[in-house]
Amino acid sequence: MRCPFCRHSDSRVVDSREVEDGQAIRRRRSCTECGRRFTTVEEAVLAVVKRSGVTEPFSREKVIRGVSRACQGRPVNDDDLALLAHKVEESIRSAGAAEIPSHEVGLAILGPLRDLDEVAYLRFASVYRSFSSVEDFEKEIADLRAAITSNDTENNT
Ligand SMILES: [Zn+2]
Repeated sequence: MRCPFCRHSDSRVVDSREVEDGQAIRRRRSCTECGRRFTTVEEAVLAVVKRSGVTEPFSREKVIRGVSRACQGRPVNDDDLALLAHKVEESIRSAGAAEIPSHEVGLAILGPLRDLDEVAYLRFASVYRSFSSVEDFEKEIADLRAAITSNDTENNT
């Protein structure tokens, strides 16, 4: 890692700590040439494999962009979206695979989005699952109602 100030190629680690619940390590480094300090972040790369076969790093930003359209006009704020993206990343990481197909990212979005906003969820699911008829919506809404009812039952016990 080159020093961002003088481009010297050697640096000394002066401090390192885990961040984001151990998913990344942040190191404070000191340049052995100019002595200035800078920070590096190291994290395990989680790759998303697109349908075309191209891989790209998992990005919370992309998750947020993917759902923000479905959330238009809904009472969902930036914090909600950031939390949703965090949940999606956690569920993907907990699956333990280093590479995941992009459609699984979509699947991982559905649960947290349903908890966040039902209308946004229906919009997202309709595109993601390519709803082609009113029946598809009716079935999804029936499932949604069933899930809500079972949640209520759990909460009451
Ligand atoms: Zn330097």
